Amino acid sequence: MQNSRFDGCYNSDNHPSKAQEHMPTYECPICSEEKLVESGPSAYECQHCHASILDGKLVCSACGKHNPLEAAKCETCQEPLTIFSRVISRHSKATRSWRLDQTRNQANTLKAAEAHASEARMDDFLEIDRKRKEADREAALIQEEADRQLVSYVKIGLGIFLAIVAVASIIIALL
Ligand SMILES: [Zn+2]
Ligand SMILES: [Zn+2]
Repeated sequence: MQNSRFDGCYNSDNHPSKAQEHMPTYECPICSEEKLVESGPSAYECQHCHASILDGKLVCSACGKHNPLEAAKCETCQEPLTIFSRVISRHSKATRSWRLDQTRNQANTLKAAEAHASEARMDDFLEIDRKRKEADREAALIQEEADRQLVSYVKIGLGIFLAIVAVASIIIALL
């Protein structure tokens, strides 16, 4: 069995698809490993990079779009298709996640600062609230005192009035 570079147009006469007894392998156009095996009629799959080739087209693993073999990225979803672009993309993903971590850390710091600030604001608010309540309480006490005084004045007034009435009735009785 001769290995050869995949050219996208094998036919079953040259390359039998009876995979069970002897799996023919070809050089993968994507990773250049000789791990490309026939997986169906004019369908090939690389055992190394998992590239899938159907009718001489590179099938996107993400969206299933058939791309030209030389495509580095999927025309539809931008999924990296070659080993090279996959490595680049993995690296940029790693960089991205590092940046994301940085941003997240900054966000956490900011959040902590904001929490501290809002805590301070909350303290201020509580202080204002406490003072307001204290003032209310004082006002209530003053009002209560005034009420009590009013009640005692009324009582005194009523007492005087009753005494006058009593004295008057005694005088009338004596006359
Ligand atoms: Zn491959
Ligand atoms: Zn795609």
